Amino acid sequence: MTERRRADVLAWARSFAEGLAPRAADFDRNERLPRDVIERLAEAGVLGATVPTAWGGMGLDPLAYGELTEVIGKVCSSTRALLTVHTSLVAETLSDRASDRLKRKYLPDLASGTRIGCFALSEAEAGSDGASVTTSYVRKGDVFVLNGRKKWISFAGIADLFLVIAADGDALSAFVVERETPGMEIHPMTGLLGNRATHIASVTFTNVEVPAENLVAGIGVGFSFVANTALFHGRYSIAWAGVAIGQAALEEMCDYALRREQFGVKIGTHQLVQRMVADAVTNIGAARELCRHAGRLRGDRAADAVMQTNIAKYFSSTVAQRVASDAVQVLGGNGCWSRFPVERLFREAKILEIIEGTSQLQQLMIADYGYKAFARRTG
Ligand SMILES: Cc1cc2nc3c(=O)[nH]c(=O)nc-3n(C[C@H](O)[C@H](O)[C@H](O)COP(=O)(O)OP(=O)(O)OC[C@H]3O[C@@H](n4cnc5c(N)ncnc54)[C@H](O)[C@@H]3O)c2cc1C
Repeated sequence: MTERRRADVLAWARSFAEGLAPRAADFDRNERLPRDVIERLAEAGVLGATVPTAWGGMGLDPLAYGELTEVIGKVCSSTRALLTVHTSLVAETLSDRASDRLKRKYLPDLASGTRIGCFALSEAEAGSDGASVTTSYVRKGDVFVLNGRKKWISFAGIADLFLVIAADGDALSAFVVERETPGMEIHPMTGLLGNRATHIASVTFTNVEVPAENLVAGIGVGFSFVANTALFHGRYSIAWAGVAIGQAALEEMCDYALRREQFGVKIGTHQLVQRMVADAVTNIGAARELCRHAGRLRGDRAADAVMQTNIAKYFSSTVAQRVASDAVQVLGGNGCWSRFPVERLFREAKILEIIEGTSQLQQLMIADYGYKAFARRTG
């Protein structure tokens, strides 16, 4: 992609975000992402941002994709979540892992946004331990038959294609399942803390027959090869989502601190408030640099990209939660009121510490890496 095209995409994103900002609170309140928002993203080609041009995508580099995620995520987490789920978890994963035959079948439609994808790993009893899913598959002639129930599936309410991880004993495999397949039932979930406009749902599979060609990558590699690739892409998106929320909360915090007066002076002149601002500025800057570092490694296809993406996701989501919480603090009562954006930012930030692997799971992986990379092993 040329520098010019890259700049055009980001300029488009900024102008799109400007129009989106006044509507985001309504999306959250109504728990619905309007069709026109999805259509505009599709028309701009952004839903295929990271898909190679050969498959109808934009072929955007990781750093530019990160910036795009930040720009959109700063104004609306649910719209940003569509990029995380559809573009990163599904389209990018299929472009990495699916056979050419399967790519031909689905990737151009995903890249253009003609069909929306969702990622179905979690179940009521399989969250952090994603490899313990019990949704089952069994081969019968030229189809695989799926049975089970998935929970927490973002955009399942509107998706056309489901990337599903299922088990046959210890052999986990991934399948692309079309929404209209008989035996699929979608049950919307409402009342979430954040990501409220992501059409989240549970999905039941009752003797759902999936063509054998819709198996992704092969039998037994659905978790190790497919789900882990999806999470690698999804975590990168969430890392930038943390920068986006943190930055938005910081701007709200600064703006308010310089306007609001108590004890006859602007509250921003109180040193205890300044400390919150200073921490936010510093931590968001650090989170953004970790994201950029991960982005550069991803662009180079470096082996360390996986761990650096985990580190960026862990740090950035922690920072987002901290800064959003401090923004509520600076706004006082107004920070607790839905008429002020920080109330929503606070709720959205917490979600980032849960999805794509909780902070605790990131800590476990990072500590394991730390022992391997940094133990001196003397004696
Ligand atoms: C808004 C939202 C959107 C989502 N979208 C999707 C989606 O599109 N597709 C999908 O498949 N899933 C989705 N999920 C599910 C999400 O991935 C899971 O919620 C997440 O993986 C955590 O699983 P759990 O909720 O079952 O929590 P649990 O795994 O039960 O964890 C509960 C707590 O225990 C801690 N814990 C668990 N194991 C350990 C351990 N070994 N060491 C230390 N602490 C541990 C966790 O860190 C957490 O604090 C979504 C969830 C939410 C809230």
